Amino acid sequence: MGHLCRICGRVRANEKFSGKGHKNHICKDCSKKPAYEIKRIDREEEIFGFLRQSNISKKNITRLNTLIKSDDSEISELASIVLEVAIVKPHKRKRLNFLRKENRELLAKLKSKNLIETDYW
Ligand SMILES: [Zn+2]
Repeated sequence: MGHLCRICGRVRANEKFSGKGHKNHICKDCSKKPAYEIKRIDREEEIFGFLRQSNISKKNITRLNTLIKSDDSEISELASIVLEVAIVKPHKRKRLNFLRKENRELLAKLKSKNLIETDYW
């Protein structure tokens, strides 16, 4: 039985995790990465998660407003795109149809950041 690393997304053998790494779901290789890189992956995953939800809540919007202020420009940009989505179409249902009709610019931004899953279409 392996264990899933939340950073590289691979299921790896238990010996690839230290005790602490096991608890944090991060393998030995990934735990060597610089802290900002690990933080970025976590934040990206968090932001992407909001889009997967059936609805982006007020609480999520507050969180996105915090992430926009991130020192990491990449995270700040992702958060601002998803915040825009949360404002115009918080519900996931028919979101892409809506954007296709009403806001192609925003749709293009989502695409450019790979924020649209293929099965989402
Ligand atoms: Zn890993």
